[in-house]
Amino acid sequence: MADETVGIVGAGIVGLAVGREITLRRPGTSVVVFEKEDSIGAHQTGHNSGVVHAGIYYAPGSLKARLCTRGRSMLREYCVERGLPYEECGKLVVAVTPGELPRLERLASLAEVNGVPGLRRLVASGITDVEPHALGLAALHSPRTAITDFVRIAEEFGRDIVSAGGEILLGRGVTAVHRERRGGLRVVAGGHAESVSRLVVCAGLHADRVGRLVSDTAEPRIVPFRGEYMRVRASKAGLVRGMIYPVPDPRYPFLGVHFTRRVGGGLEVGPNAVPAMAREGYQRWRVDPRELLRIASWPGSGRLVARHWRTGLREMRGSLSVRAYLRDARRYVPDIGPADVVRAGAGVRAQALDRDGTLVDDFRVHRLGGVTVVRNAPSPAATSSMAIAEHIVTAMGRGD
Ligand SMILES: Cc1cc2nc3c(=O)[nH]c(=O)nc-3n(C[C@H](O)[C@H](O)[C@H](O)COP(=O)(O)OP(=O)(O)OC[C@H]3O[C@@H](n4cnc5c(N)ncnc54)[C@H](O)[C@@H]3O)c2cc1C
Repeated sequence: MADETVGIVGAGIVGLAVGREITLRRPGTSVVVFEKEDSIGAHQTGHNSGVVHAGIYYAPGSLKARLCTRGRSMLREYCVERGLPYEECGKLVVAVTPGELPRLERLASLAEVNGVPGLRRLVASGITDVEPHALGLAALHSPRTAITDFVRIAEEFGRDIVSAGGEILLGRGVTAVHRERRGGLRVVAGGHAESVSRLVVCAGLHADRVGRLVSDTAEPRIVPFRGEYMRVRASKAGLVRGMIYPVPDPRYPFLGVHFTRRVGGGLEVGPNAVPAMAREGYQRWRVDPRELLRIASWPGSGRLVARHWRTGLREMRGSLSVRAYLRDARRYVPDIGPADVVRAGAGVRAQALDRDGTLVDDFRVHRLGGVTVVRNAPSPAATSSMAIAEHIVTAMGRGD
């Protein structure tokens, strides 16, 4: 019989990585994963760009910087060992105006401190050696940035949990958590209750809501941002060999619309970042009035809008018009125009927002009395998932 049972809320890549790490590092502990959907990776894990980031952008010393770098090498090793897709097709970050050059240089310094492997600075002629159809004044080349299939990785983590004796309960949304008098927690999910000794919440778009069930706060709040993709028609898909990104606007935690190859073949452009009107608002017109009210009544939202309404309007215009959507991307790949793309679905980012209107940039994990809540795990959390798991399970071992 198991010494203890750890419950996990959410069968996305982070929850399953944590479950797997527990089975490896805490022998005698059994794992039970509660997932409200009928499949693994149904939300962010299954609706992202599939990029294994190399750690270019992140503030040195932040959790993102540490866990992305470590997570990338852990993930690479795991994919190679298990025969999962992992293609190092490399990435360019391209500056197209003189004003972007100092920001590119700053990224280069961050990337060096973060130990991004093989990073090179390129002048204009060097850009076309790597990507013959890209244009720019200068670029960074990260040859080890890779693409993968995060759902297949999450499913493999799930198989590891089950072969170690754990359970993944699909279609079991957690609706209540009660602290038991003799210690431990009672988790109510899908009409059944299970006792666990500890709980780890990795609920993505519902991190604040589930976090509120196990603590006295729902802060920071989750604000959903839809990221829409376009697929490049086959006739032009060969124009990009790997990935081409713009220099991001440092005021936002999003990387800007970029070109990305997919492991199954094909080339995509995206994602943009448009405020979503529902937590799982994959369609543009999906509106959840209760959710809107919740977002509008949160003080952080008003402050965010006051600061960034211009960018918000520009993103919305890009969402409505393919021409406006491609305007930025055409600055660095001019040969792909509106006639060369078709709309290709969307993902919704779980972006945490603080009360003062700050978009939380770093990963955020709270721990309290046997409960760990992952409050903010946006990109590159899929890349970093195995290192986030290691970080959480190490803290568990210390009794934090
Ligand atoms: C458009 C987009 C592009 C991105 N691109 C990249 C990229 O290229 N590279 C990268 O590294 N990262 C990328 N990311 C980020 C990455 O996808 C996420 O950081 C990562 O998937 C987070 O994993 P997760 O397990 O925390 O969340 P999720 O995958 O969202 O999983 C959370 C799970 O919790 C479940 N859940 C919620 N509430 C409950 C409940 N009450 N009971 C039971 N289950 C519940 C949900 O159903 C869901 O399955 C991108 C994200 C988006 C949206």
